[in-house]
Amino acid sequence: MAEVTLKQMLDAREERVKKQKIILSRYKHPLVSFTMNIAGPIKTSPLIERSFFEGVKLLKENLPQDSIVYQDIDIKSTGCEAMFSVKYEASKLKDICSSLEEGITIGRLFDMDVINADGIKLERKNPRNCIVCGTPGRACAAGRVHPVDEIQTITREIMENYFFLLDKERVSDLAVKSLLDEVYATPKPGLVDCRNNGSHTDMDINSFEKSAYVLKPYFGECFSIGKNTVSLSPNEAFPLLRNAGILAEKTMYNATGGINTHKGIIYSMGILCASIGRLWLPEDPFRCASDICLESANIVKESIQKDFEQIDSSTAGGRLYLKYGISGIRGEAASGFDSVLKIGLPCYKELRNKNFNSNDAGTITLLYLISNVKDTNLYHRGGVKGAEYAVKTTKKLLTDFPEPTKNQIETLDDAFIKQNLSPGGCADLLAITYFLYSLES
Ligand SMILES: [Zn+2]
Repeated sequence: MAEVTLKQMLDAREERVKKQKIILSRYKHPLVSFTMNIAGPIKTSPLIERSFFEGVKLLKENLPQDSIVYQDIDIKSTGCEAMFSVKYEASKLKDICSSLEEGITIGRLFDMDVINADGIKLERKNPRNCIVCGTPGRACAAGRVHPVDEIQTITREIMENYFFLLDKERVSDLAVKSLLDEVYATPKPGLVDCRNNGSHTDMDINSFEKSAYVLKPYFGECFSIGKNTVSLSPNEAFPLLRNAGILAEKTMYNATGGINTHKGIIYSMGILCASIGRLWLPEDPFRCASDICLESANIVKESIQKDFEQIDSSTAGGRLYLKYGISGIRGEAASGFDSVLKIGLPCYKELRNKNFNSNDAGTITLLYLISNVKDTNLYHRGGVKGAEYAVKTTKKLLTDFPEPTKNQIETLDDAFIKQNLSPGGCADLLAITYFLYSLES
C-alpha cells in the first residue's frame, strides 16, 4: 500500500474544499463530507475501505428517504472520501452524523463533517476523545503524544472487532434462515413441510421453527470458537465445538418439548460456522464453499477416525456403519461435505440460474441428494428395503423428468409417507446447500 506525503494530504484537502464549494453552489443544500480518520502515511487498505463503505451504508440508512440529491464517492491513495448533498436541515444532519461517530465503535474512525447551505461547517457538540487514552479534545494529537504504530494497532482493532461482531451476526442469521428455508421448502418427500408432516407424527413446521430460532446463539458461538482457535490446529477446535453442541441439543429439546428436530444439523452447521470463523478475515470475511468445507473436514477428521475405530453394533448407527459402511453426517463432515459440493450446490445453482425460485430449486435439489446419498434416516426407518425403495423411486422420477413438477414431487411425498420414510439426512444437506449458497452470494 502506497505511503502518502504531507504535501499529497494537503493537496487532497485543498481539492476537497474546492469540490465542497462546487457541490454547495450547484445544489444549495447542506453537505455531508465524509472521510476516514486514519493516522500514519497509509490511508487506504481493503479493511479501511470496508469500514468506509460501512459508514456510507449507515449514513444512508439514517438519512430520511430520498433526501440525497447528489453523491460523490472517491477512493484515493490519500484516503476514502464521500460527499452527499442532502435536502435536510443541517443541524439535524449534524445530529445524525454525531450519533454515528459517537454511538458505534467504528464511528470513532469516521469524520462526518456537515456544512450548511451557506458554506459554514457545523461544530460538534462534544469534543472527540483520544483514540488511544481517551483524553477529551485534540491535546494528544496536537502534542503527538502517542506513537503512530500504537494508533494504527488500535485503529485496526476497532475495525476488526466491529466486523467480527457484524459477521458473527450475519453467519448465525444465515444459518437460522437456511434451517427455515429447508423446512419451508415444499413439497419434500416424507419430510415435514408446508404440505404435511411427512412420515412424522411427533413434529410439525412449528417444532422446526422453534428449534431453528433458539439455535441462533449456538451458531454464533461456533463462529467465535473458530476465530478464537485459529492459532491452534483444526482438530483442537473440535472438543470445544462438541461441548457447545451438547448444550445446543439441550436447548433444542427444551424448545421442542423433547423432539429431535435438528440434532444432525447442530453437528454439521456448527462445524461449518466454526470453519468460517477460522478462515475469517475482517477485510475478506467469507471464503468460497470449497475452502469452508475443506476446513470442516480438517476439524472433524481426527475425532471421527477415533469414533469409527471404536464403533460397535450397540447402536443403530454403529450397525449401519459396520454392516453397510454408511457413515451418516459424520462421514459427510469428514469428507468435507462432498455431497453438498458435488451434488447439492451445483444442482441448486444450475436451477437458480434457470430462474427456479429458492423453494423449487431446493425441492428438486433434495431429490438429487436422495438419489445419490446413503441417508441413515432412510435406513433407520425403512431398513435396507425402504432405503433402496426411496432411492430407486426418486432416481426413476429424475430419469424420466430431470426437473420434476410440484405435482410429481407430491406423488413421491405420498409414496414415502405410505412407507414411513423420511430422508432427514438429505434434508440437512439441503439446509447446508442453502447456507453455503447464500454465503457465496
Ligand atoms: Zn491520548
